[in-house]
Amino acid sequence: MAKGVLLVISGFSGAGKGTLVKRLTEKYDEYALSVSMTTRNPREGEQEGISYFFVSREQFEQTIAENGLIEFAQYCGNYYGTPRAYVEQQLEAGRNVILEIEIQGATNIKKLFPESCLLFVTTPTAEILESRLKGRGTETDEVIAKRLARASEEAQGMDMYDYIVINDDLETCVDEVHALVDAARREPVRMKSFIEDMQNQLMGYSKGE
Ligand code: 5GP
Repeated sequence: MAKGVLLVISGFSGAGKGTLVKRLTEKYDEYALSVSMTTRNPREGEQEGISYFFVSREQFEQTIAENGLIEFAQYCGNYYGTPRAYVEQQLEAGRNVILEIEIQGATNIKKLFPESCLLFVTTPTAEILESRLKGRGTETDEVIAKRLARASEEAQGMDMYDYIVINDDLETCVDEVHALVDAARREPVRMKSFIEDMQNQLMGYSKGE
């Protein structure tokens, strides 16, 4: 069976990343969402093993020492990392594994797994981003201003991604992401055994010349 695609999804806060990922996994069976490990405290409503695996610094460092993470980063004084076993098992089983991680983690993944597919999710305009952040009604003006300032920094890294996904209409965006991943599955790097098999089959003909 062909291996799945390691799919990294980053994007501005407010661009609809979370909703996009949720819809993608609901609509298509072949996606698995990786749950990260972190040393930060759970926020209200967050669930162990669903939002994150919440661990102590000692446990996190132990996991690093055991080579149990495929990447990790420090962010605002806490560790965040991607557990190795789940990602490897799901990719072997032919499923596309989604990592919803920030830009530094995405850079590390691309170095470690050059065949990974990096998507950056954005709104069509900055104005729409601002109005979506305000529309949530959950954040103060100060937090919104911080997130927009951060978006401005993150925008500097957009061109290192493989694809920019403009989240205007959710369903269109979900199907577009799925089409991009389907195309990635046809890249020769993921079709090695098919290529070898085809080359071997055709060898018989070249000998018979
Ligand atoms: P938060 O504390 O708001 O849940 O996450 C903070 C940042 O860490 C977000 O940008 C999130 O995407 C990122 N993040 C979450 N999990 C991981 C991970 O496993 N690795 C890396 N590098 N970043 C992560």
